[in-house]
Amino acid sequence: MHLLSEVTEMKGIGAKKAEALKKIEINKMEDFLFYYPRTYQDRRNALKIANLYSGMTALVRAKVVLIIKDKSHYKKNQVLRLLIEDNTKSMEVVFFNAKYIQNLFEQEVEYDFYGKVIIEYGKMQMIHPEFINSEKAIKSGIVPIYPITASISQGEMQRWQQTANELIVEVEEFLPADLIERNRLCSLQYALRNIHFPEDGAKIKEAKYRLVFDELLILQTGLLSVKNRSHIGHCGILFSKDADIEAFIKKLKYKLTNAQKRVVGEIISDMESEKIMNRLIQGDVGSGKTVIAEIALYKAVKSGFQGVLMAPTELLTHQHFEGLTADFKPHDITVGFLSGSMNAKEKREVLMKLRTGEIQILVGTHALLQPGVEFNHLGLVITDEQHRFGVNQRALLTEKGQNPDVLVMTATPIPRTLAVIVYGDLDISIIDELPPGRQKIITRAVDEAGRDKTYHFIESEMKHGRQVYIVTPLIDDSEILKVRSAESVYEELSQRFREYSIALLHGEMKQKEKDEIMMQFYEGRIDLLVSTVVIEVGINVPNATIMVVENSERFGLAQLHQLRGRVGRGSDQSYCILVNNTDGETANERTEIMVSSSDGFYIAEKDLELRGPGQFFGTKQHGLPDLRIADLIKHIDVLNVVKDEAKRILDEDAFLSSKKYGNLKHKIKMAFGEHFDLKL
Ligand code: ADP
Ligand code: MG
Repeated sequence: MHLLSEVTEMKGIGAKKAEALKKIEINKMEDFLFYYPRTYQDRRNALKIANLYSGMTALVRAKVVLIIKDKSHYKKNQVLRLLIEDNTKSMEVVFFNAKYIQNLFEQEVEYDFYGKVIIEYGKMQMIHPEFINSEKAIKSGIVPIYPITASISQGEMQRWQQTANELIVEVEEFLPADLIERNRLCSLQYALRNIHFPEDGAKIKEAKYRLVFDELLILQTGLLSVKNRSHIGHCGILFSKDADIEAFIKKLKYKLTNAQKRVVGEIISDMESEKIMNRLIQGDVGSGKTVIAEIALYKAVKSGFQGVLMAPTELLTHQHFEGLTADFKPHDITVGFLSGSMNAKEKREVLMKLRTGEIQILVGTHALLQPGVEFNHLGLVITDEQHRFGVNQRALLTEKGQNPDVLVMTATPIPRTLAVIVYGDLDISIIDELPPGRQKIITRAVDEAGRDKTYHFIESEMKHGRQVYIVTPLIDDSEILKVRSAESVYEELSQRFREYSIALLHGEMKQKEKDEIMMQFYEGRIDLLVSTVVIEVGINVPNATIMVVENSERFGLAQLHQLRGRVGRGSDQSYCILVNNTDGETANERTEIMVSSSDGFYIAEKDLELRGPGQFFGTKQHGLPDLRIADLIKHIDVLNVVKDEAKRILDEDAFLSSKKYGNLKHKIKMAFGEHFDLKL
């Protein structure tokens, strides 16, 4: 057997087990090695029963002297009690729901039990301990505990891991010696051996450090290689100092906030310098990022360049297009639009005008990334709601110009340290102020019992001419889950509010229909809009004052914050009502956060805490590699070291083409997958 042997070559793994292993991404023997324990149990010393105390977690080696099967009529809920005994004392072991365990024990046989000791009313028990026949107990020492699935037992996984462990000698080091030495890392083989079967706690630590280091280094080097690849050795565009943005700002209907002014200042100074602008604007929902984009675009156009604004949804793109068209009209600037749903003729026309330079600013969806989209003189690239795009997509757009300046905007604030990883070496501008006159949105959480009251409230607002959003997680009831679908809510409310105009909006509708409905809602011809999350980003209807989120437990906090940001855009008091259908602890905690805070940064941090970085960033969607052992928050100190190393590596060998970095390059490519255009 070798590292690259299929797992089925191992004794005891048939097609079924192989299938289960595949689900956790173990296909080859090698994959076992990189499937790390989630925790360890210290079974170096079996304790005597007489020495146990309540609350401790202990390993006991004891003989089963009595097996008591519970003959209760609740078949499902059978309890199994064992009386066990060593040469000091006896105690009880209890299993609930013991159907599967019933027949695993034999009287007078010795087992190892590992679990928490409880002493109550003078009775000593272990409830649901792990156990193994002492003769088979290969598990002395520190025992790894793996994340497992229903069809794989802990015991199986441990045994397979032991077999896989024998192949560690074949594992090739992929970091160069100088790097290992500089960072005082242990070897990869040593790390793998000790992450699975460590002799002591110190060795786990060493191993873990190395493996965390590896993951972060691979992530960081990969990302860094994408970023600014085209910028190496180039300098950016010098936008003209004579292109005076004041002419644009003067024509706005409002005054910029101080925060907006500061950010505009930062952008303009980037644009006027020969440095390539690479700037992230973080600003809460409604903080007024769009106008900042417009000012930058104005500057670009007045300096003789084209600009592009990419947004993640068709609806948002449409709205941007309309807004920009209106704002640029007085300045004689032509704005174009491109989306996947346009027909071939329309597209051809836009592409032509883009090539000739007649279109000065192009607004669009992902369709902008296609190879046929060629600019005449692209100088500024802006992406809105950046968190929806992968790093790679941003790079693709940038390549359509000659070192254009780049601005990315996001309403999903993330802690600065983390922003640096995901957005790399972007400079960061923060809009930490909302335009004046905004009312605080009142947020309430209700459950089913509060539904009727909610509807009454909705009605009274509609009576006053206000508009309402109701967002649901699903389109139709096809999912078995107990969630209210947009369709069923729509039907129910159409019955209930006959005098009002109610519409349904979801992502599977044709673009034309969606636009039509959104436009009607915008113009106030629809009172109540039942929708799936297609309205999540950026839509702006100031007269809408209520946002109801059905099954709010199904949404992430950052997402709820975004949804809530759809209301409170005018001068009227607005409301967000979260209809919760679970009472799990996390659900309550989440609701509490939403009710008590309107601070996007705070909410984002909580979201990160509750969901972990993987989900928060949607790494799968970004095409970023999985982090199995590293944690972007916990290991921030390692990350800082790694960032320097990644930079050093690419400075030394930009494409990792030397033999020295050959193995690292391979690792990075494997980790990022083929969809990620690494430029390595
Ligand atoms: P976001 O940052 O969420 O993208 P928008 O750019 O859509 O926010 O702005 C939200 C609303 O606030 C828009 O209607 C915009 O016209 C308005 N707005 C932006 N800046 C100001 C300001 N300084 N004063 C008043 N209203 C503003
Ligand atoms: Mg916006």
